Parts: sequence; structure tokens; C-alpha cells
Amino acid sequence: MFETITERREEFALVLSTEMGKPMEEARGEVRYGAEFLRWFSGEAVRVHGRYSVAPDGASRHLVHRKPVGPCLLITPWNFPLAMITRKVGPALAAGCTVVLKPSELTPLSALLTAEVFQAAGLPPGVLNVITTTKAASVVTPLLRSHRLRKISFTGSTEVGRRLLADSAGTVLRTSMELGGDAPFLVFEDADIEAAVDGAMIAKMRNMGEACTAANRFLVHEKVAEEFAAALAMRMGALTVGPAADEGSEVGPLIDARSRDKVHGLVTDALDRGARLVTGGGPLPGPGHFYAPTVLCGIPADARLMTEEIFGPVAPILTFRDEREAIRLANATPYGLAAYAYTRDLGRVTRLTEELETGMLAINSGLLSDAAAPFGGVKQSGLGREGGAEGIAEYLETTYVRLPGP
Ligand code: NAD
Repeated sequence: MFETITERREEFALVLSTEMGKPMEEARGEVRYGAEFLRWFSGEAVRVHGRYSVAPDGASRHLVHRKPVGPCLLITPWNFPLAMITRKVGPALAAGCTVVLKPSELTPLSALLTAEVFQAAGLPPGVLNVITTTKAASVVTPLLRSHRLRKISFTGSTEVGRRLLADSAGTVLRTSMELGGDAPFLVFEDADIEAAVDGAMIAKMRNMGEACTAANRFLVHEKVAEEFAAALAMRMGALTVGPAADEGSEVGPLIDARSRDKVHGLVTDALDRGARLVTGGGPLPGPGHFYAPTVLCGIPADARLMTEEIFGPVAPILTFRDEREAIRLANATPYGLAAYAYTRDLGRVTRLTEELETGMLAINSGLLSDAAAPFGGVKQSGLGREGGAEGIAEYLETTYVRLPGP
């Protein structure tokens, strides 16, 4: 599977890019990233171990058996149309589960192409089933209540995640929820500012900012804020915005008019409350849902973009005086998916690890996700983990057998 998708990289990249608007180079990156989940979990499939142990008093023996949880419903979003599928299908199949995949109505072709590759590889009929629909609730709600499933794994907005948790409560389904984010990007006074700007460009602009791990708030020490903001604005302002199919485009369009208007609403709200515009600030004229890469400074604490997911190319910058304040601001959100920090102080890294309310923390890097590492959030960003050894555990059930002693 990994090999086939890699060999057909251009074809996959073209479908992803055409369906959701990411530039071709980013689409090729997603194909590499998405295929890697299949390579990783095919390795994990042979590492599903049980356990045999002797009770401390010697009177009994304990056998722990791991087995597939059963039929799973997998619901995926449009922003990474391949990788969000392989991150679920890979571990589910590796654990031995059958699956029903319900991709986003905005990117059904990416899902069908992926299913075709599995079929061509000889996956038995009925193991991977795809439902494409524009009426998600009318298909999903009855399925969740049908007693035919054992698990639901959802990636999407916190709002829909909450609804699915309620719908699956009656059947007490195992649930994994990968939901929204509001990642803080912390730049401390000892940071390498050039490296921090490089990292910020990735954490903010990957996928046009349409990523759950996208840096949503830049919290910068007051001593280095001016230097950081000027350098970031220069890099953001120089990006080439254009159609995804143009090889020269670095930033494609946003997914639809609603999303572009939501992004602009958040920018306008911040400006109305007293924020300062450094670059960008509005939709680009002409057809398509293009939004200018935007940097805002002096963000008031009550601006909506402090606690709402932007999902667009907008970087709000605010300052802090010391580490305490940085941590307090970083945690002041209902979300807890990802965080980034630039510092050279190892002691500070340990404090951030312990005190930031986040499922993932990148140190001196603008990238987080890796097939070999547990991906997921705390607070209203979700339940469970995808990737790494934790990823396959989500699709395994445990049976304990008590055996008599000798
Ligand atoms: P969304 O919640 O609108 O939709 C996600 C999926 O749920 C789609 O397949 C959609 O058809 C389906 N859906 C929508 N309403 C439904 C309902 N009532 N019943 C059943 N299914 C329903 O999210 P989106 O706009 O596709 O994706 C963007 C969101 O996804 C952002 O909030 C982003 O942060 C989040 N996301 C999270 C992660 C993560 O790993 N934590 C990764 C990518 C995206």
C-alpha cells in the first residue's frame, strides 16, 4: 500500500489539490505523510502482544489477550483528505477491524481513490467500506444507534464531535475524537529568532492555515516581539498566493466562501477591538476564496481569535513579560491540541512539558505530526491518540483470563 500510493504520488496529489485547493507541492507532501501511516501501522500489526503473568501470591495465572475491537465507523475531514484517512484506516486494519469510512462531502474523490488502491491490493470485500454523502447526519446517526458498530473514530470540529458523542452514548461505543485546536506558539527572549520565524511559517502557513495544529496565537516575549513581528510580516507578505494548480503558488484558496468570510470576521473583530494590522488584512479581489497572509499585533485579550480556531492564513501576535504569564496565556483556551515553543533553556522545556495543557508540544520546530508519535489533544481538543503504539491500541480490546495456579 505504501509503495503503491508512493508510486502514484502525482495522481494522488492532483486529486487532493483539485478537491480542496492545496498547492501541488503541499499535496505531494501530504501523499508522503499519508502513505507513511500505512507503512508504520503495517509494522505495528505484528507487534500486538498479549501477556502472561503469575499473580503475586502464586495462586493464579493471568492471561491478557488483545483482539480487534470490531466494526468501526471512521469519519474524516477535508483538510488532509488522504492523511486523515490513512491515520485511521492504517491502525484499524492492522488491529484486524473492519471499517466504514465516511469522508468529508468536500473531498470524496480522495477517499474513493484510496479505497481503490486497497481493493487493487487484494483487501477482501467488505473490510473497507466507503460511504460518500452530502447528508452526513442522516447516514451517521442511525448507524451510531444501530448496535452494529463497536467504535467510532472522528476527526473534525469540536461542535460535530460533541454531537457524535451524544449520539453514540446510547450504545456506549468506544470513541476516539480528534477535534479542533487553538495552538499557542511561544517565542521566549532567549530564542533564535530566525529559526522561530522559519518555524512560525510552517506552523502557521502549512495548508493555508487550515490545520488543527496550526499556530493560532503567537505569544512573544516583549523584548523580542518587534523583531519577530517585522520578520514574520516580511515573510508572510512575500508569499505567492494563487491557484493550487500553478506550480509557483505557495498559498492556495481557502476551502469555501463561508470559511473565507469567517476568517475575515475574526480579523475585523480584532481590528475593531484595537489590534494593529501589519500586513494583509482581507480577501484578495477576483474569483476564488483567496485570503491575504495577514499579521496582526497588539491583540486585545477579548478578541475572538484568542479562543476561536482561525483556520486561515492569519497570525495574531501578542506579548508577555515572563514565563508565568506566557503559560497562563497559552492555557487560556478551551482547546489543548498542540503548542510550539522556541527557547534554548532546557529547564524551561521541562516546565512547559509539565504545565502546558496540551496533547503535543514542539520545541524549536514548526512541525509536529509523525506516524510514529501519539497525535491527539486534551480538554475540548479530543479523546484518544492516533499514531505511534497508542494509535493501534485504540482499535484493540482486552480480555483477561484467570487461570488456576499449578
Ligand atoms: P466538520 O466537523 O464540519 O466535519 C468533519 C466530518 O464530520 C465530515 O466528514 C462531515 O461530513 C462529518 N459531519 C458533519 N456533521 C455531521 C453530523 N451531524 N453527523 C455526522 N457526521 C457529520 O469538520 P471539517 O470542517 O471537515 O474539518 C475542520 C475541523 O476539523 C477543524 O475544526 C479542525 O481543527 C478539525 N481537525 C482536527 C484534526 C485533529 O487531528 N485533531 C485534524 C484535522 C482537522
